[in-house]
Amino acid sequence: MSKIVELDIFGWEKVYIKEIYGNFIAFIAIHSTKRGPALGGCRFYHYENHRAKSALALEDVLRLSRGMTYKATAGNLPLGGGKAVIISEFYDLKPDIRRSLFESFGDFVEELEGKYITAEDVGTLVEDMKIVSERTKHVVGLPESMGGLGDPSPVTAIGVFTAINYITEKLLNKSPSNTTILLQGLGKVGSNLLEHLYNEGYKIYISDVSPKAIENALNKYKNLKYVPPDEVFDIECDIFSPNALGKVINRHNVEKIKHKAIVGAANNQIENYEVAQRLQDRGIIYAPDYAINLGGLTLVYYEYELKIGKQKDKESARNIAIEKTKENVLKNLEEIFEIVRRTNKSPAIVADEIVEERMK
Ligand code: NAD
Repeated sequence: MSKIVELDIFGWEKVYIKEIYGNFIAFIAIHSTKRGPALGGCRFYHYENHRAKSALALEDVLRLSRGMTYKATAGNLPLGGGKAVIISEFYDLKPDIRRSLFESFGDFVEELEGKYITAEDVGTLVEDMKIVSERTKHVVGLPESMGGLGDPSPVTAIGVFTAINYITEKLLNKSPSNTTILLQGLGKVGSNLLEHLYNEGYKIYISDVSPKAIENALNKYKNLKYVPPDEVFDIECDIFSPNALGKVINRHNVEKIKHKAIVGAANNQIENYEVAQRLQDRGIIYAPDYAINLGGLTLVYYEYELKIGKQKDKESARNIAIEKTKENVLKNLEEIFEIVRRTNKSPAIVADEIVEERMK
């Protein structure tokens, strides 16, 4: 069995690297355990640049683990931030190889004795986490049939919906029935969000690269308007809600945006602070992503509490997660926009400053 290599990187508690089953390389970065165990998903990713793949995986695991610390802090959860990346050498793995790989990853997580808690992420499946759970108890995001709380996306959607209502009523001074909203991405979060917005009476535009996702939405709800993916910045809505990709607002489109507010679940929506400040200077409201998309993390945290006996049953654990999500989203937005009004700093910058203060 190969040994764990430990890296000390300034700003991170530790990075562990291990060659697991089948010569796959797995990275686990612990950004912080100051507030609790470092929780974050396991990404299984194929890097096209073969020579630089280890460097790219390290960059990803560092960036993503740090983001988890910020999100956990924004969610007021007693958790730190961590993340795992396994470099995928092939696109398709035979089921028996995949099983051995995730058993071996489970052993790696177990060796860290609870400092890191893993979960599903890009490229991994609930089925993979079931296999991981055979080797370690430090895994969350399991299906209900395995004692977990199931898909976290509906709770993420509730948090984002809470934020949309807050921005509509408190900052745009409008009501849902006279507010237009463009939903980009109708996946796990976007489709749940669509249902809440529809029931609340918003005027909804939808966009997705998947014709199937569009067709499903148009069949299920009346009066939706379709916007082709490359035209989302050509129209003007009160709210643009990104629920698909990262860096959707960047230096190439920031001057073009006509929407009044940006409120969605996608991680890392804004390319950098400069772009974020430009939005603010143009009078476009931005609800910082991790301050409002913390519902999924909150749910998996309560699944962890259930696992360690701090919650009595699934139903109450889920209900508490939903209430805490709404409460924390509102608290974050109140705090952020109070400072934004006084300083005219971008909400993205203010959110980071608030969270960094809470981490002290
Ligand atoms: P998903 O993969 O289920 O859905 C993404 C959707 O976006 C798909 O329908 C896809 O076809 C669509 N899409 C992709 N590219 C697009 C484009 N260019 N234009 C329009 N649509 C496009 O993902 P999800 O779980 O719904 O997550 C959505 C976003 O929210 C991601 O950025 C994710 O990181 C973030 N997020 C998700 C959760 C969660 O609980 N699932 C929690 C926090 C953050």
